This record gives sequence, structure tokens and C-alpha cells, in this order.
Amino acid sequence: MTLEGKIAVVTGASRGIGRAIALRFARAGAAVAVVYASDAERADEVCREAVEYGARATAYQCDVSDFGAVKNTVGAIREFFGTIDILVNNAGVTGDGLIMAMKEQSFDRVIGTNLKGAFNMIRHCAPIFVKNRSGRILNISSVAGLSGNAGQANYAASKAGLVGLTKTVARELASRGICCNAIAPGLISTDMTAKLDDGGIVRAIPLGRVGRPDEVAELALFLCCELSGYITGEVVRIDGGLAM
Ligand code: NAP
Repeated sequence: MTLEGKIAVVTGASRGIGRAIALRFARAGAAVAVVYASDAERADEVCREAVEYGARATAYQCDVSDFGAVKNTVGAIREFFGTIDILVNNAGVTGDGLIMAMKEQSFDRVIGTNLKGAFNMIRHCAPIFVKNRSGRILNISSVAGLSGNAGQANYAASKAGLVGLTKTVARELASRGICCNAIAPGLISTDMTAKLDDGGIVRAIPLGRVGRPDEVAELALFLCCELSGYITGEVVRIDGGLAM
């Protein structure tokens, strides 16, 4: 699987799943724009590692929930790399709590980053893809968006929203040679899940273990390379069987 000559933008690429995707894409020959919220040091580390693989890589600080900031960042990425071929909307946050106690601010923050963030990125990248008559969009959803999850009304709603966004964008842009898909991971070992007491959840996973970021990255690579050019509007679970 190769991405030789492609320019990829990965949001939330300073850590976890996004980092693994950016580095896997770099190893596959892509140039990568590493978008992050606040952790400049770790984003720079990802870029250094990508450069060791022979890739061009630059970090961009951008709050994806901010429409204007995303517009400027996509403009800067396009100016630096010349174009954009692949967009991975991976940036995400949680703000768990039961529905009866969930604060409005927590709901807005999670929807703003996870769902509106993806909209903002697609909104500003799509004209570039349409002009090129090609492009790949990959949204990182979650099994929580497929099945719901007690204590995650905001998060599950944002991730379910991404499924609707994925299918709509896939329908709207298919005639321009653009594919849009989603990945729905189960429990993956990252900072986001480090604080969870996962004993009970692991027992519910048929494969009996949590997943690794590099396993998600391999699937992301497949969905963004030429081999998968006849797949669009699809949501692929990678969850050890948790949500089947
Ligand atoms: P993580 O380790 O917590 O990393 C989150 C990343 O998102 C960081 O790079 C962070 O940047 C960035 N980010 C957060 N808010 C942002 C914003 N407003 N603008 C731009 N970037 C922002 O998360 P992860 O576990 O790798 O998860 C990655 C994605 O997979 C998320 O969408 C998550 O919902 C989804 N997912 C994860 C799991 C899991 O089990 N881990 C399961 C299903 C789905 P900074 O480093 O600068 O803060």
C-alpha cells in the first residue's frame, strides 16, 4: 500500500491514533501536515519521526472547532505543500457524564471538536479536492456512535453525527472522484483511554484485548490508498468484535 507523492492532513496527530496514522502515512510515502491543539512538543516529535522516514512533515497548531482558524490552517497547508490529497479527521475529545448531570458546556465542547471540527475541515478541503477531481476523506468515529454508551451522550452523539456526515459527503462528492469513509474503533490503547478502568470492557471484547493505534493506522492507510478506490460512504469497525 503506497501513498507516494500524496499530501495528507491528519488532525489530532500529536498523540495516539492520529500520531500512528500520520507516521504510517509518512512511511507509505506521503507528506504529512500534523494538526494539533496544544501539544507543540509532541507534534514536532511526530514531524521529526516522519522526516526520518523520508517524508516532508510540518506541524500546524489549530483548534479544529474554530471555523476561521481551520480556514487559515488549510490555506497555509495548501500554500506550503502545493495541494491536499487526503484529509483524516481524527481530532477528538471526551467529556463523560450521565445525561442528568451533563453540563451544556461539556456537550458543546465535545460536539464542537468532534463533529463541527470535521465539518470545518471538510468544508475547507473539499474545494481543493473538487478542483483536483480526486481526494480522500476519512473520519474517525467510534463504536459509541453506533451503539451508544452510557455516560457518553455528548461523545456518542458526535460520533453518530460523523456517520451521517460521512455518508452525506460521500454522496455529494462521489461524482468528483472523492471518497469519504469512516472508521469506528472500539477500545484502543491511547491517552484518551488510559484513565479508564478497562477490566470490565476487555471481558466484553470477543478478541479479549484492547486494540493498538498502529492497527487503526493500517486500516486508515488502506482506506486512503488507491486499492480502496471503490469504497465510499462506508463505516468500518475495528473493535475486536465489541460492537458486532
Ligand atoms: P488522544 O490520545 O486523546 O489524542 C487526541 C488528539 O486530538 C491530540 O492530538 C489532540 O491534540 C487533538 N485535539 C484535541 N482537541 C483538538 C482540537 N480542538 N483541535 C485540534 N486537535 C485537537 O485521542 P485518541 O485516543 O488517539 O483518539 C483519536 C480519535 O479516535 C478521537 O476522535 C477519538 O474519539 C477516536 N476514538 C478513540 C478510541 C480509543 O479507544 N482511544 C476509540 C474510538 C474512537 P493535543 O495533543 O495538542 O492536545
